[in-house]
Amino acid sequence: MIETDIVIVGSGAAGLTAAITARVLGLEVLVIEKTDLFGGTTAYSGGAPWIPCNHVMRQIGLTDTRQAAQTYLRAVLGEHYNDDLVETYLDNAAPMLKFLEMRRLDAARRRPCHDLRLHRGAADGQGRARRRTIAPARGRARMRDSIH
Ligand SMILES: Cc1cc2nc3c(=O)[nH]c(=O)nc-3n(C[C@H](O)[C@H](O)[C@H](O)COP(=O)(O)OP(=O)(O)OC[C@H]3O[C@@H](n4cnc5c(N)ncnc54)[C@H](O)[C@@H]3O)c2cc1C
Repeated sequence: MIETDIVIVGSGAAGLTAAITARVLGLEVLVIEKTDLFGGTTAYSGGAPWIPCNHVMRQIGLTDTRQAAQTYLRAVLGEHYNDDLVETYLDNAAPMLKFLEMRRLDAARRRPCHDLRLHRGAADGQGRARRRTIAPARGRARMRDSIH
């Protein structure tokens, strides 16, 4: 029998970020993945998380506001806009990036990218650096290279 503090189901960005966070907090973690490769959709995504009001924007002299991010998301999501999800995301995305970066865990390159749809409510320039590029990882890593 395996004893652990936290069981994470799925090894994509969401699961592994939660796993890393739990480990940083000193907890034992077990990540369960149903396929023989880890990474999920995340492994073949563009790898540029969209994070409004992030600290890198401030470092390069760009300002961003919660309201501008909401405006952009309303324009892009339309009827799929969900207040609770958006507010939770805006509360947590920037602190998450800082949390990982402070521990050198985000493998982020210092190359910010612009919003995908600049014409939809972010044409004021604030959307120029909300996305972050992430350094590539080994694509062929299998679950036997399990994360400890
Ligand atoms: C081509 C492409 C490009 C993209 N580019 C970007 C981008 O540039 N920026 C961006 O922010 N987003 C991008 N996305 C979207 C992004 O990839 C996803 O939103 C993100 O990867 C979702 O992460 P996740 O951890 O929720 O899910 P996933 O990465 O899919 O991880 C879920 C994992 O859970 C596993 N799983 C599911 N059910 C079970 C179970 N019952 N037991 C065990 N394991 C289970 C799956 O096998 C999988 O490994 C892109 C998507 C695609 C397809």
